[in-house]
Amino acid sequence: MSGFDFDLFVIGAGSGGVRAGRVAAEAGARVGVAEEYRYGGTCVIRGCVPKKLMVYASAFSDAFEDAAGFGWDVGPARFDWARFIAAKNVEIARLEQVYHAALTRAGAQPFAARATILDPHRVRLSTGAEYSAKHILIATGGRPVVPDIPGAELGVTSNEMFGLAAQPARMMIVGGGYVACEFAGIMNGLGTRVRQVYRGAQILRGFDDDLRDHVADAMRARGVALDVERDVARIDREGDGLRVTLDDGETETVDLVMFATGREPNTAGLGLGELGVHLGRGGAIEVDAWSQTAVPSIFAVGDVTARAQLTPVAIREGQAFADTIFGDKPTRPDHSLIPTAVFTQPEIGTVGLTETEARSRGPVAIYRTVFRPMLNVLAGREERVLMKLVIDAMSRKVLGCHVSGHAAGEMIQLAAVAIRMGATKEDFDATMAVHPTAAEELVTMRAAVA
Ligand code: NDP
Repeated sequence: MSGFDFDLFVIGAGSGGVRAGRVAAEAGARVGVAEEYRYGGTCVIRGCVPKKLMVYASAFSDAFEDAAGFGWDVGPARFDWARFIAAKNVEIARLEQVYHAALTRAGAQPFAARATILDPHRVRLSTGAEYSAKHILIATGGRPVVPDIPGAELGVTSNEMFGLAAQPARMMIVGGGYVACEFAGIMNGLGTRVRQVYRGAQILRGFDDDLRDHVADAMRARGVALDVERDVARIDREGDGLRVTLDDGETETVDLVMFATGREPNTAGLGLGELGVHLGRGGAIEVDAWSQTAVPSIFAVGDVTARAQLTPVAIREGQAFADTIFGDKPTRPDHSLIPTAVFTQPEIGTVGLTETEARSRGPVAIYRTVFRPMLNVLAGREERVLMKLVIDAMSRKVLGCHVSGHAAGEMIQLAAVAIRMGATKEDFDATMAVHPTAAEELVTMRAAVA
């Protein structure tokens, strides 16, 4: 038994911290966990989970609209924001308990407090208590950042969206990333008039260009007023609303402005600089492949390291850390080929290289299909599904798979398994189609388009 109070002290009980703390405790380590807010972190409390519930809520408007084409008479539908938020809050509180219980059942000791690091083996809590620990894990996540413009404080971020007292009738969303595009779809689906303003030429920078164009067009067709190469210059209060001035001088009055202009790691005030923990781009903690910082007893996982700001990545990093240090199973988290879903409307599922990335590495063959899915025909909905495979022209390996359409996120999980195993285009072709589905098109694309 070491002379420390704990074998591991975890700061932050989000996806990464809870996984690491639980696995370490199950392996017999004495674990303390400090969380200043709510158990579950960004994903559970104000990210992925409530966001997905909002996506589900907003998708009913499609279903009500489409129902007529299938013979249904649906009366006028009305969305009750307060009722939805209350139901969502009950589910989030339940999940918070699940996270808390996962730690305590494993034998970890939770502290409802903010922690700062005093030295490589010592933490101080906001309650005044101090503890020593053989290892310290920083899993403090990130927070939204807003641009430095006059009136920025009048806007909100995704944090506040989950608890708004009332649904705005008109809103402006600033940004073109995951969060901006997902909320544009959600609020548009719920009946808010949405204008989305993005400074670049096309939304979703970093994704495959065909996918970006497809989703942008579909979002516009669904009613999102998407404006590219525009930015917000200032915000002023105007009666009960907000007058937004764009960079070209245009003004528009809305009820709510939401900034979805990126996130920064929560490293401020932890005492890291003095300790010798190195901070890199945007204040992210620099770690090696084992999630170890420049101070050997201090490790970091999840969004605070900004390797890939995704829940499953944080969980993998937390698991690998605990397996390595407490499970006698050295594991480095693998950050290659991360599949991801973006819950835009229509949804995106993507894994591997974009066409542009693949072309920069060598010759490729591109297979692409755009079709109207069966679901949309009777519904009278014009929206198409896009599927695209990026193939290495020499080895025929599938380098990238990009899908936009209903259940694209569900499809991409399975495609990712095959691609990870090194599947070739011919393996896809040899796989029997599942009929009638949209996904079958992934194995029936015959001719390369480029
Ligand atoms: P992103 O980094 O994805 O997007 C930020 C957006 O804001 C970009 O369009 C960026 O433009 C723009 N922007 C940045 N700074 C400014 C500025 N000063 N003025 C105007 N526009 C600006 O961040 P998000 O907040 O959308 O998401 C954060 C992370 O959370 C993502 O990277 C993702 O990993 C994760 N996430 C994942 C989800 C999922 O898996 N479904 C859902 C939500 C979040 P530009 O492109 O020009 O830089």
